[in-house]
Amino acid sequence: MRTPLMAGNWKMNKTVDEAVAMVNELKDLVADAEDVDVAICAPAVDLYAMNEVVGDTNIDLGAQNMYYKESGAYTAELSPSMIKSVGCKYAIIGHSERREIFGETDELLNLKLKTAFANDIVPILCIGEKLSEREAGTHFDRVKFQLAANLSGVEADDVKNMVLAYEPLWAIGTGKTATPEQAEEIIKFIRETVEEMYDADTAEAVRIQYGGSVKPHNVKEIMAQPNIDGALVGGASLEAESFSKIVKFK
Ligand code: PEP
Repeated sequence: MRTPLMAGNWKMNKTVDEAVAMVNELKDLVADAEDVDVAICAPAVDLYAMNEVVGDTNIDLGAQNMYYKESGAYTAELSPSMIKSVGCKYAIIGHSERREIFGETDELLNLKLKTAFANDIVPILCIGEKLSEREAGTHFDRVKFQLAANLSGVEADDVKNMVLAYEPLWAIGTGKTATPEQAEEIIKFIRETVEEMYDADTAEAVRIQYGGSVKPHNVKEIMAQPNIDGALVGGASLEAESFSKIVKFK
């Protein structure tokens, strides 16, 4: 059985004080959450102070990005050991905003993924199609292409432990959610593609989240889908009460 992962992606929101205040509130609200993993992927400057607060609670931390080199002349980038030193278990790799606004390529994301595995960081790899691709009916081809390119040379054992996040670009921050059936259809396809690329055990083990305007009011029906193993949550993760309702979706 796959344990669902509810991960908040705060994006470029919250100062250190705001971040600490929110995790202090959240840790009490989610302390009794059962059979679910919880993570907050916060801005890099917030992580050190957040790590002091989350301690041995059930909240894990994640970075929103990570570079593939260990150190050197890469101004403004973060290495795997840097994010681990502030308590990160996870790193989001290839969020659509990184791909679209910052021009991150599939080749770069493949290097980042391999670096995450080599450093015992669990990557949350985001894949998903644009509205034009959904309308043209090429969304299955799009995610298949991203999986092949981003996972090129990645071993099955690493895939079993990673997280995939299906995030259709047209549903991110738009308030427009994929229907549970649309999400299930393509996430099932993603799992089948992992099986084709690897094997049935790997496909069964890998956690696949849905992301795109997940809110307290729609999380339950999304989580009722058999192939959906959690959510990557932007807007609704910025407030402790709404995120705790998503974590405790049952
Ligand atoms: C995201 O940024 O990964 C996301 C899913 O955002 P939102 O929940 O706000 O749509």
